[in-house]
Amino acid sequence: MPERQATDVVFAAGTLMPISSPPLQDGAVLVREGRIAAVGDLADVGRENPDAEVRFFPNYTMIPGAVNAHAHLGFRRKDAPEGGTFSGWLGRLIERLPEKEAWTAEAARDCAREAIEAGTTYMAESSPYGECLPQLAESGMAGTVYAEFFPHEIGTPEEAVEFIVSKARELGEGLPERADARVSVHSPYTVDPESARLAARRTREMGWTLAIHLSESPEEVEFVKSGKGGLADIFGTNEWGGAGVSPVRYAQEIELLAPETIAAHLATGVSEEDIAVLAQTGAAAAHCPRSNDFLGCGVSPVPDMIASGIRVGMGTDGLWSSPSMNLFEETLFAVELHGMSGAAGLELATLGGARSLGIEAETGTLDAGKWADLAVVETSYEDGDPERGVLEDAAGGGVAATVVGGNVIYNRLGT
Ligand SMILES: [Zn+2]
Repeated sequence: MPERQATDVVFAAGTLMPISSPPLQDGAVLVREGRIAAVGDLADVGRENPDAEVRFFPNYTMIPGAVNAHAHLGFRRKDAPEGGTFSGWLGRLIERLPEKEAWTAEAARDCAREAIEAGTTYMAESSPYGECLPQLAESGMAGTVYAEFFPHEIGTPEEAVEFIVSKARELGEGLPERADARVSVHSPYTVDPESARLAARRTREMGWTLAIHLSESPEEVEFVKSGKGGLADIFGTNEWGGAGVSPVRYAQEIELLAPETIAAHLATGVSEEDIAVLAQTGAAAAHCPRSNDFLGCGVSPVPDMIASGIRVGMGTDGLWSSPSMNLFEETLFAVELHGMSGAAGLELATLGGARSLGIEAETGTLDAGKWADLAVVETSYEDGDPERGVLEDAAGGGVAATVVGGNVIYNRLGT
């Protein structure tokens, strides 16, 4: 990671969109020791800080960096398995896990780079036993790796949870200031209820967030309800499939749902009652609509979840189920899918992600006190909906520079 600048720097653009307040023309942020010290008109910020270095992007729009609330780094685009159905895709993925070992690290580096070049400043990454932590930590992005564990590979539920908590602690040692390691309960069909319950309890006691995949596919709904279907064919009919309830209800029953929990997908079979359960427990959601579309998982009821007060962020998922690591492109897809405004979309991609991960005091908007995490976007939009315009530009490769904690980690302009 580059050294943090010793002097104050003013980043300014023709349009500044702090998200927490209306856009400013010729707006600027003053960055001191990695954090935003002031936000305002370039003229004022410049006058009050005459010794600061000024980096002005006159024909660009500056927005908070994308917060990717659910991603997998260790996949590559060129040999993604066919989509269509979730269980068919997962079966093909599992078959190819052994061959994947040879290139996972390289894929993770490439995916992190792709995300950075698309304006991502924070990423919540999930990988088996946290295998993609080195690539995330080296990338310059801030983020968390959620270490997935598969209890049947380890031992009893107690042993499995002890193992993964120690593993996350060990991974967390010696990391850059803004990288950390936590635990993921991969899914209702791969983790038994006792291991899931213990992992959720242990991690909550430590104040850790917890990542899960939940209510993603029709096959998961069938597996949790009746213990049958495509996932039972892969994983066998075990003692916990067939709980007779929806995945969301099941997750609540085994104590997985709490404000610390971020549930990815919530795509198939999320009823009004499920939304009420999610809202009541305070669990957050990561919305991955392109992955859901590719794997026949339906449409997550995101507008209803937001209306119920559920914290929702956006996630790209990984390149074996999604076409890119560009979170703004993912968000534009969601905006079109749900008929949202550009402003609502831009908020989902930034502040929404930060809220879902419980880090909104640290990032997600351009406000004094937060880390200077931002993206500079080449803008081609004219009148109409400027937030929609900048979202389209950022989705279409318009990100020209990415800054994390005041460090310029990508800059194709050389400015
Ligand atoms: Zn996922």
